[in-house]
Parts: sequence; structure tokens; C-alpha cells
Amino acid sequence: MILFFLFSLSEMSHIYIGKTEETILELKKDFLKDTVSNLIAEIDNQRKAEADLMEKFTVRAAADIGDKMSLKSSEFSDFLKDYFNNTSEFKHWTVVYWDWKENKAIYDNLNMSEDSWEPTLQRLQDELAVYRILSQGDKTVLFGVKKSYLDDLVKAEFSKVVRNLEFNDGSYVWINEIINYEGGENYAIRKVHPNLPDTEGMYLSTDMTDTKGNHPYMTELQGIKKDGELYFSYYFKELDSDEISRKLTYAKLYKEFDWVVAMGIYQDDIKSYVDQTNLESKKLASKLTIVLVSMFIIILFLSYFVVLAIEKLHHRHSRRQLESEVNQDPMTKAGNRRSGTNELSRAFRAYKRNGDSPGIMMFDVDCFKNINDTYGHAVGDMVLIEIVNVINGVVRSSDKVIRWGGDEFLVIFYGLQPRNAMGFGTKMLSLISALNIEAKGEVISPTLSVGVAFFQEGDTDFSDALKRADQSLYQSKTNGRNQVHIDL
Ligand code: GH3
Ligand code: MG
Repeated sequence: MILFFLFSLSEMSHIYIGKTEETILELKKDFLKDTVSNLIAEIDNQRKAEADLMEKFTVRAAADIGDKMSLKSSEFSDFLKDYFNNTSEFKHWTVVYWDWKENKAIYDNLNMSEDSWEPTLQRLQDELAVYRILSQGDKTVLFGVKKSYLDDLVKAEFSKVVRNLEFNDGSYVWINEIINYEGGENYAIRKVHPNLPDTEGMYLSTDMTDTKGNHPYMTELQGIKKDGELYFSYYFKELDSDEISRKLTYAKLYKEFDWVVAMGIYQDDIKSYVDQTNLESKKLASKLTIVLVSMFIIILFLSYFVVLAIEKLHHRHSRRQLESEVNQDPMTKAGNRRSGTNELSRAFRAYKRNGDSPGIMMFDVDCFKNINDTYGHAVGDMVLIEIVNVINGVVRSSDKVIRWGGDEFLVIFYGLQPRNAMGFGTKMLSLISALNIEAKGEVISPTLSVGVAFFQEGDTDFSDALKRADQSLYQSKTNGRNQVHIDL
């Protein structure tokens, strides 16, 4: 049973460890994906927030410029130059002032204008994230912020956020910018890398391998080209250490920036966590085993003692039964001659030690043969049983009633004084003769002849006293029966 239990435990622990590993890995993978996805969502939020801010500035600039539209062309041009160069919020803005009289750009701070208005407008609309067009008379002014400027702001801000991210398990987030989706030499540039900050700005190649010969950049590029995201494994230096470990990474493409945002965990961390869990479960298993084995041993001991007790009880019962079979007259339940002999020997030995003799009373049913002859043997039996019952009712529990043979009985009275013997004998006679045993429509009242004797000094054996009791009994018989004689 214990072996089976241990086997089950070990099987269970294997399954448990497997499941734990799977669960932890799944949790970690979810964590990587959630973290990266949340960060990417944050880029969109930041781009929107920047655009909103620029939109507010645009409204302000539109109001300021609108007020000056009636100025002369050269003055207006000076105003624009001054406004966009000297107001800090508008430093990097694009302004094109198109004069319709001359049909060309009079002021164009970033050289964005073309030969005619239409392509100029087209180009500006393509490249600007927010813009306004104001027209009055022969003046048209278009100003706004380049998408690339806005994105550079967001990229710088977001890179700072990513560099400062900290995770409990030594994980970090890094960003590569893809230059060429076909891969090869210089296919990407490392933008943010908290583990290797010195290498930021470095060009990457899809031919690069890890210590085991894997091509992680190639795998990554193929994965994001196919699904926009992927999980993959390779070997890489751990954070703040020179150790190279197997790393599980999640990478996701942010297409607008051509950025691959990635995050990984070292798989050794999972193993140590699983080992810890495994250790705990083993401890629990040994505890359980000890409890089971102890319970088993206790039950074994208890069963042993219970069986032993039952055995003893049974043994005592059968010994008693055997004893009573050996010492008892089966019909009357009085002691048999064998037990009587033993009892008399014991009593004689005690008398020899302390001089106290019990009263030895011998009695014989009078004319018992007649009862048998007249009423049958069965009635004779009943009479003997009744006589023993009556006598048992008047003697002490220490006294012994013994069937000596046929209709002859002995009663050994412990503590009976010789002076009381006659009185007691007579009492017995009257009790027996008061019996009314019904048989064949008649009533039988048996009588006894009694002889009493005690041990005497010169006796060598109990049989001396027995002989004297027998002689006294004989006297009672010859004297006419139903009487007591005592030999003192
Ligand atoms: P007495 O007064 O001289 O004793 O006359 P008695 O008829 O009783 O003569 P005795 O004591 O010699 O007779 C004993 C008879 O008891 C003889 C025998 O058939 C009968 N007897 C002995 N054992 C049993 C018994 O177990 N059951 C019955 N029913 N009779 C028995
Ligand atoms: Mg008799």
C-alpha cells in the first residue's frame, strides 16, 4: 500500500512539475506580450497628445498671423520670419508664404516650395502633421509641423521611458528600428537597449548569430514580417552579468516608426521557480508519507493488541468451560466427586495449618429407589436437581455442594461451628421435606438422612472425617431416616 502510495506521489509530482512549468511559462509569455503591447499603445497615445498640442499652437498662430495679413508684402515676410524664428514653440515649424502676384514663395523657411502652388500644397499636405492655410488678397500662408518632427519628439520621449523601465526579474525592453525589411547587413539599427547602452546606434545584421549558432535577428525579422509579432528563443547576455543564458523573447512591430519593440525573460528564472515549487511539493509528500506510515504502524499495533485481547478472552472463556466440565456434575450443576476430593484435600491442609475445620455434611435421599420406581427415572432426576437448588439457596457462596455419587451428596460448610451443626442440619431437613414436587398427579416431598463430622486431631487424611460423616449418616438411616447425626 505504501509503495503504491509513493509511486502515485512521484507520478503526480512529475505531472505537477510539468504543469507548473507550462503555467509559469504561459504567465510569463502573457506578461511579455501585455507589457510590449501596452507600451506600443502608449506610443499612439503620445503621438495623439503631441498632435493635439500642436493643433492648439496652430490655432494661436493662425490668430496671430491673421492679424498681420493686411501688411505690405515685405513687412509681412519680415513678420513671419521673426514670428517663427523667435517664438520658442514654433522654432521647428514649416512656413510657406506664397505671393500670387509673383506666383512664387516669398518666404519658405525649410525650402519646401515647388515651382507652382499646386505641387507645393501637395508636398506640404503630405509631410505636415497639422497645418493651416490662410489667404487674403494675393497672400496665401501655409504653416504647420512636419510629421517627422512630431515623431522625433515622440521617439525621443518614448525611448527615455523605455530606458527607465525596471522589472523585478531583470527583464528589460529594447527597440530596434528596421531600415531594410529584406534583411542583410545594416538591416536595422539598435535604438534602445538598457542591457547594452553603449551599443545603441549600432547597425544590426540578420547574419548575426548567438553562442549556439541561432540567427535571432533573422528569426525576428521573418516573424514580424509574417504576423507583426512573435515569440522566439536564443542565447543572450544576462542583465548586469556576463552570463549567457537562454532567453524567451516577445517582439512586436510598430509599423509607423519601423520599430520592433521587444522584451524577454531568461528561462533559468523559470527553472529556479519550478525547482522551488518542486521542493515544496516534495516536502509535503514526505510529510504525507510519514503520516501514512505512522498511521499504518499504529493500526498494525492496535490490531495486534485487539486480536491478542480477543484471544485471551476466548481462552479464559474456554478454560472456564473446561474447568466446569471437569469439576461439575452436568445434571445437578453441583460439584462432582473429583472437585469434592480436591476441595476436601485443600480444606484438610488448611485445617492442618490453622486448626479450623469446616463442617462436612453428608446426606443421602431416603428411599430414592422408590421414587425412581414409582415415578420414573426422569422424575428421580428432577428431585435430585430440586434438592441441590434448595441447598444452594441456603449455603454461603464459599460453601461447596458436591454430588458424591448416586443420591449421595456432600456439603462442605466453611465456618460452621460444631455447636451449630445440629441446628443447621435440622433446618435443611425441614426445607427439603417442605418441597412439593409434582409428578403424575401426585406430590413428592423427599426427605434426607444427614451425617455431619469435622476434622479431628488424629486424622491423617480427609477420608477419616468422611468416614465419620458416613457413619453418622448410616446412623440416621438405621434410626429411621429424615434425621441428623453428628460425630464430634
Ligand atoms: P435408602 O433410603 O436406604 O438410601 O434407600 P434408597 O432407595 O435411596 O437406596 P439407595 O440410596 O441405595 O439407592 C440409590 C438409587 O438411586 C439407586 C439408583 O438406581 C438411583 N440412582 C442413582 N443415580 C441416579 C440418577 O442419577 N438418577 C436417578 N433417577 N436415579 C439414580
Ligand atoms: Mg438413598
